[in-house]
Amino acid sequence: MKNTVKLKIKSTFAKNLRAGFPLINKEAVLNLKGNVEEGSTLELVDESGAFLGKGYFGQQNKGIGWVLSRQQQEEFDEKFFEKKFKQAIEGRKTLFNDPETTAFRVFNGEGDGIGGLTIDYFDGYYLINWYSEGIYHFKNLVVQALTNIADYKGLYEKKRFAEQGTYIEDDDFIAGERAPIPLIVKENGMNFAVYLNESAMVGIFLDQRDVRKTIRDKYSKGKNVLNTFSYTGAFSVAAAVGGATKTTSVDVANRSKSKTIEQFSINEIDYEAQDIIVEDVFNYFKYAVRKNLLFDLVILDPPSYARSKKNTFSAAKDYPDLLEKAIRITEKDGVIVASTNASNFGMDKFKGFIEKAFKQTGDKYKILEEFRLPSDFKTINNFKEGNYLKVVFIKKLT
Ligand code: SAH
Repeated sequence: MKNTVKLKIKSTFAKNLRAGFPLINKEAVLNLKGNVEEGSTLELVDESGAFLGKGYFGQQNKGIGWVLSRQQQEEFDEKFFEKKFKQAIEGRKTLFNDPETTAFRVFNGEGDGIGGLTIDYFDGYYLINWYSEGIYHFKNLVVQALTNIADYKGLYEKKRFAEQGTYIEDDDFIAGERAPIPLIVKENGMNFAVYLNESAMVGIFLDQRDVRKTIRDKYSKGKNVLNTFSYTGAFSVAAAVGGATKTTSVDVANRSKSKTIEQFSINEIDYEAQDIIVEDVFNYFKYAVRKNLLFDLVILDPPSYARSKKNTFSAAKDYPDLLEKAIRITEKDGVIVASTNASNFGMDKFKGFIEKAFKQTGDKYKILEEFRLPSDFKTINNFKEGNYLKVVFIKKLT
């Protein structure tokens, strides 16, 4: 067991922590000297020495650790993790019992009481994401607790704590039996191929489940669909299953082509009737304008930050311009699905971007519906930035 370190919190920050804010910011600490060891237990006190909470030290892009308990006597032992995981699994019973959906989030960090740790479920396999070296120090306890209570085929992990929170490449298998390669999971009756041991990303972003269903059920029938930043084409699959006349998927990564062909194939969609294009989206927009291409449904789901050969894209800065380009190749009465996972701005600002982009093109619009994280990506009111996902369905009016 590591030492317990007592940190004194400035009064301005103590107020927030007392109200339930779970993240420990560096600026909040008065007596942070040199080297606190990753994984140390932290006891937080206010300027007068009164107890505020207990947590652990683990440096992420955001913060230096998380509050896990408001009880001074609480120990972070196997029982502690078992209790948290039991609660989380109990809260997802409906998903566990749904034969049409076999992939979802089981444990969502601070939303379920332990910041820096998430666990996803893929048809009997559990994937643990560690977001700091600090939380990784609890690995044995976490694995033991999870295997005590969960019905599992196998366990995998992603160590996301190299520089800038990037993934450390390794054999990600931990215990049980190894998953088939690929592992085919279901989501609302659609199939998706996932690879648990290939890279940081497994092939599908589980937080878009409700959006994929909505695209399939309400916006695709008879439509010509453009899916930009398409990755493995999950939105294109949803659109094709929903009756799109054609889908066009655009992603700059070479791997996206074979991955998209695979996702179409396992859903019995003829991939040759779809366009799958490996190209920079910004070049594709120019091409589409030159060719007078117009789409009924345009999906925009860029990474929050990306650098390609010619462009640097930052959602917080460049989203309005990206949206403007999309508006110009959307049919009148067509729909744009604007999505972002950037946690550094909220829904109000995102809607400001939409307003700005439509001002730039001079078109009118109407917001049809909005999505935030689905319920399995549990969030807490005291940590708004945890609800990072913002998706807005916008109609371009005639
Ligand atoms: N919409 C996808 C997830 C997108 S992940 C889904 O629902 O599954 C972001 C993707 O954007 C990555 O696959 C990355 O290769 C791609 N990307 C980043 N910059 C790009 C650019 N300039 N042009 C095209 N694709 C880009």
